[in-house]
Amino acid sequence: MTTANFPLPIPNLDNQVFWDNCREHRLVLRRCNDCQESFHPPKPTCPLCSSENLEWVASEGKGKVYTYTITRQPVNPAFRERLPWGIVDVELTEGVHMISNLVDLDPEQIEIGMDVEVVFERVSEEITLPKFRAV
Ligand SMILES: [Zn+2]
Repeated sequence: MTTANFPLPIPNLDNQVFWDNCREHRLVLRRCNDCQESFHPPKPTCPLCSSENLEWVASEGKGKVYTYTITRQPVNPAFRERLPWGIVDVELTEGVHMISNLVDLDPEQIEIGMDVEVVFERVSEEITLPKFRAV
């Protein structure tokens, strides 16, 4: 297990199920039963139609790099050791965007449109982060 030395997400009532599933290496999304749209991050109401009629659905965990940035300055000192750091906006096949990182790839090699799939990085007892790798 990686020992996290950087700030971690803090699960709350809206996203506890998401983090519980990540811990089991499953990527899940919130889906609206009224307008049928999936979305992320988890919220108590649909961001498109405000419905509270939501369910959790499994994501395929596959998608493409929609866009990215490479951080070269430590916006938080805890991230200094990770620079340069590639931050990607992945568009999942479900049409949902998720901000994450790519693993096993030099950030300079990230390309828009690159096919990626989810992998999971356990960083604490409670938190396992969804990351992506090129496929
Ligand atoms: Zn909706």
